[in-house]
Amino acid sequence: MGVTHHGRTERLDLADPTLREWSCTVLASDPETGIVLDRSAFYPGGGGQPPDHGVLIWSGVETHIAGTRKGDDLYLIPTDGDPLPPVGAQVTGAVEDVRRSMLMRTHSGLHVLCGVVFRDFGALVTGGNMEELTARMDFNLPEVPPGFRDAVEAACNTEVQAGRRIDVRVLPRDEAFALPDIIRTATNLVPPEVKDVRIIDIVGLDQQADGGTHVASTRQVGRIEVVKVESKGKGFRRLRIRIAD
Ligand SMILES: [Zn+2]
Repeated sequence: MGVTHHGRTERLDLADPTLREWSCTVLASDPETGIVLDRSAFYPGGGGQPPDHGVLIWSGVETHIAGTRKGDDLYLIPTDGDPLPPVGAQVTGAVEDVRRSMLMRTHSGLHVLCGVVFRDFGALVTGGNMEELTARMDFNLPEVPPGFRDAVEAACNTEVQAGRRIDVRVLPRDEAFALPDIIRTATNLVPPEVKDVRIIDIVGLDQQADGGTHVASTRQVGRIEVVKVESKGKGFRRLRIRIAD
């Protein structure tokens, strides 16, 4: 739903992925449908990155947020049985830092992997998913050359050590898809009504249209371990990775 807002909610997480605490106002509050804020840094999930967990604090009360639901508005789902802040309440929102920070490292690590496998082996990404510090990514790769796992792991960690900058840019759709490298992952995933496209650029390695939260440099990812290369069918390879310190 755009690069700055989702429905009535300003997406603070897109503007600043390091933000963990902010003040905001409750626009809607219902035990069934959830809570809508005017400003939120909760990543709502998408692009393989799971939603944030966290808490809303108001009048000395805590409402734990266990997930999100994306509709016309961005709904935060409270933990069962927690009290709900009333509409109009000023609350402090807080994203659970440990989980989010691990997901940011993992997500950026997957983009490093994607960039390396495309550059060195010409393989396109067909899917992926992540949890904290573990992830899988699927590639269309007809043959697995000897030493593939070790080569990918070594190249990924070279890119981590290089400390490549990870930039976020928002471009008009036409400009975004004129980037020579962007087409391989994104063209078909961005719906036609989307006018502005958010680009995650690991400078010199990988550019993707992406709505996720990322670290600022590849060095912040940590060590990337390629745990396993699985063959799931004709040309279908699944790489499982783990992120270490
Ligand atoms: Zn991504």
